[in-house]
Amino acid sequence: MRRQIVAGNWKLNGTIPQTEKLIGALLAGKSKNERVTVLVCPPYTSLETASRLLKGSHISLGAQDMSEHDGGAYTGEISAEMLLTVGATFVILGHSERRQFHAESDDLVNRKAKIALAAGLTPIICVGETLDQREAGKTEKVVGTQVSGCLAGFSTDDLKKIVIAYEPVWAIGTGKTATPEQAQLVHAFIRTMVRDMDSKAGDMLPILYGGSVKPGNAQELMAQPDIDGSLVGGASLKADDFIAIISAC
Ligand code: PEP
Repeated sequence: MRRQIVAGNWKLNGTIPQTEKLIGALLAGKSKNERVTVLVCPPYTSLETASRLLKGSHISLGAQDMSEHDGGAYTGEISAEMLLTVGATFVILGHSERRQFHAESDDLVNRKAKIALAAGLTPIICVGETLDQREAGKTEKVVGTQVSGCLAGFSTDDLKKIVIAYEPVWAIGTGKTATPEQAQLVHAFIRTMVRDMDSKAGDMLPILYGGSVKPGNAQELMAQPDIDGSLVGGASLKADDFIAIISAC
């Protein structure tokens, strides 16, 4: 049985008071599911608050991005070590919004992921095609290039420690969700690619689906054989919705 994960990506939301309120509601509600690793990824400024509130709980902490550098003259950057010292154990890398608004390439995601792994963080590596690419029949080509670029040079040991999130760009924040069948096809394609690199790593790999996951569609998505949980954006900001998604797993 593969590890199931539900991760909340808060994006640019979550002042310290909002973080206290949301985490308070998650801890007070039924956010525990023995079969699922649950984590939240608040903005950097709320990581310390979240870490303190989550200490000793069943909810883990992740960051939304990380620098490829360990330290030095890189204004605005946050290193892997900084994330570890604040209590984060996961880091989202290569989210489509980082790719779109900050020109992040597969090559950069690859370097960041290697640094995260060396530091002991679990990278959640995001891949996904745009609507134009899907309509042009290029989904597998685009996702395949992203997966091979992001995982280039990984040892088999490293491959066993990563998480991949398939997030079709056209489904993120749009209210449009990939059908369970559409998502399953791409998840199976990604798993086959990783199995070709190392069969055990491919079998173990948690592949999360992301893109307008809501309480109403979570169950049928997560029932697919190669969907091992979800990376949730908008719905992770509402405690009741996030809890319902965790329960659906
Ligand atoms: C995301 O940002 O990773 C995401 C999937 O967002 P949403 O759930 O809002 O589509």
